[in-house]
Amino acid sequence: MAEIAFRNVTKRYKDTLAVDDASFTVAENEFFCFFGPPLSGKSTILRLILGLEKPDAGEILIDGRVVNDTSPAARNIAMVFQNLALFPHMSAADNVRFPLKERHEPPARIEARLKDAAEKLHIGHILHKLPGQLSGGERQRVAIARALVRDPAAYLMDDPISALDARLREETRVELKRIQREAGRTLIYVTHDQEEAMSVADRMAILERGAIRQVGRPVDIYDNPATTYVARFLGSPVMNILATRRMGSDYEAAGRALRVAAEDAVAGAVELGLRPEDLHVAPWEGGGEPATVTEVEPLGGYTVVTLKAGDQPLRAMLRGQPEMRVGAQVALSCDPAKVIYFGAGGAALPRVRGARQ
Ligand code: ADP
Ligand code: MG
Repeated sequence: MAEIAFRNVTKRYKDTLAVDDASFTVAENEFFCFFGPPLSGKSTILRLILGLEKPDAGEILIDGRVVNDTSPAARNIAMVFQNLALFPHMSAADNVRFPLKERHEPPARIEARLKDAAEKLHIGHILHKLPGQLSGGERQRVAIARALVRDPAAYLMDDPISALDARLREETRVELKRIQREAGRTLIYVTHDQEEAMSVADRMAILERGAIRQVGRPVDIYDNPATTYVARFLGSPVMNILATRRMGSDYEAAGRALRVAAEDAVAGAVELGLRPEDLHVAPWEGGGEPATVTEVEPLGGYTVVTLKAGDQPLRAMLRGQPEMRVGAQVALSCDPAKVIYFGAGGAALPRVRGARQ
């Protein structure tokens, strides 16, 4: 299995900058996600890796070798299409055999590869069925098996499960992760669903208008977003990003309802970022400034509370089902260590250990 890298790759379509000076390295056997909103360049990146598009600038490398001028066939990258791409008149087994028959592999070898893929994907019991007789998840597994038998340098998947309903998506993504781990393959996966990206990726890249804004482990990006764009894009409910300024010995935000002692903050912060789960809400008992509860969404395991303070809307995610009434006045607080501090321009400010101002 291969390592895949871009070095300063740019791709334009007339006036559109589809991929903007992108650099990344996907390690061998890694589950790597590209995560971005629609039209951010995800599919174009996959087409560049496959060799269906040529970059206008930069280099594409497979195992350290520049492949800009290598044909798609010689790159040997498998695109796993959605389940619709199965041949409807062929059994699951024949679908899986198909790419090997096309290459005129010897029958014994084809059967051995089919058996191996069927075991890895737990589809031995459905191999005799036609795609129309399979569930969505089963079709997905057959499609993956068909890609697996080719033994490519890497697999690419472009939003492969977006057509499935929510429950099936959850099952399928867990399954995909297991298959990738057991099969030990390089898998490059595109999604616009943040929960999916967080759950499956070893590492991921976050895209904004063709540019890679951050690469890292999902939890590291979640905890330490590089910019307000990344901070807002990852996490649900969305991170609270509050204008702030220093007033005396404190940084204040949300009117004056939220305060961080300047010595616990980062100098020069113009915005504070606070995840909804890190915003603490308590009954207001006078002192400081209250926030007002404007909406309560009890979701079972947790409750999302929308608040307003100094014309600033905020959201808090509270465990369980706390008593919370619309219109109630509450006190806001937070652990300063959980706050992300952003400077002018939206870049996160590095936290300097033990810094005092
Ligand atoms: P995503 O997969 O993230 O939705 P795409 O890679 O499909 O994004 O598209 C990135 C940008 O490039 C978009 O602005 C899109 O309109 C443009 N684009 C993609 N393919 C073409 C094409 N074949 N011709 C012209 N513009 C394209
Ligand atoms: Mg796309």
